[in-house]
Amino acid sequence: MMLCPKCKSELSEGATSCFVCNTKIGDGAEAGRAWSLAGYIGDKITADFANETLLSFEIPSVVISKSGFFGNAGLALTSFFGDSDQLFEISVPSHLVEEATEILNNTLGSGWRSARDEE
Ligand SMILES: [Zn+2]
Repeated sequence: MMLCPKCKSELSEGATSCFVCNTKIGDGAEAGRAWSLAGYIGDKITADFANETLLSFEIPSVVISKSGFFGNAGLALTSFFGDSDQLFEISVPSHLVEEATEILNNTLGSGWRSARDEE
């Protein structure tokens, strides 16, 4: 998965610019960074906490809710939490996904589900 470095829209692999905000992909330190899904969180408070926790470890993270990025309309995601209408995916830069997973395992415990649990 690729994310726009500016507005965090999900882009198709190999996209050269963002179809939402027109940011060019492929130059600059942030551009073209690969993001990986770290796991799933069932409520917004925990998702925000995870975001802040990762930030305190200097790991940037993107939280995607079923209704889009922090309220932007758009993405429909399959719920892994049954009928809960709250589901948040948390993604981090690919090279930090193992570290982020470990941090969230330690801080959130059962409040989240690692993407690795499915493998
Ligand atoms: Zn964008």
